[in-house]
Amino acid sequence: MARHLPYPVATMSDLVTIPTPHLRPAAARRCRETALVAFVRMASVAQQAGVGLLIVSAYRDYAFQEALFLDAERRYGVGNGSTWVAPPGHSEHHTGYALDLADADFPETDDEPSFGETPAAAWLAHYAPSFGFELSFPEGNWQEVGYEPWHWRFVGDDVAKSLFMPHRLFFQEREDASVEALAKSEASSQKKSPFPGEGLGMGPRHV
Ligand SMILES: [Zn+2]
Repeated sequence: MARHLPYPVATMSDLVTIPTPHLRPAAARRCRETALVAFVRMASVAQQAGVGLLIVSAYRDYAFQEALFLDAERRYGVGNGSTWVAPPGHSEHHTGYALDLADADFPETDDEPSFGETPAAAWLAHYAPSFGFELSFPEGNWQEVGYEPWHWRFVGDDVAKSLFMPHRLFFQEREDASVEALAKSEASSQKKSPFPGEGLGMGPRHV
């Protein structure tokens, strides 16, 4: 079962309107200003490399997320929807900092795993971090959310950092814990040394 984290829903005064040229038709129209400024800069650099970036989803309110989640539960079975869609109150999209991105030339890959094969996905994987974006759900993510190569969160301002950093630290702690577990298992394999105690720094035992 995927582990989604609670997020506050941004208020209208936190959000700006995304200009139409950056959107797929009917896409969510609002996000945080800092995220939009970073996206517009990023999209113009990508354009120079021949890659068209568009936004397919940005800020979502509680009711919209609830409708998406119920739809996922219908589609994948009750209890399975959360692998693909966060329950209401738990979406990064509530914050206005998460953007689902698309390749302008490949609309059929919008919100699909095949987006990962597009030129836009390859470009983003390489350059998006330098514009302040990070992939929320890479392959093998600790939250066990399905791989979403299109879902990027902006972490380049203080509010965004305060929202997302605790989770990144939690992730770091888990990494540290697994390093510790590895060290312990190495120590226990040393215990099986033909010279008992050697691996524990005691030296060979003389009876
Ligand atoms: Zn998303």
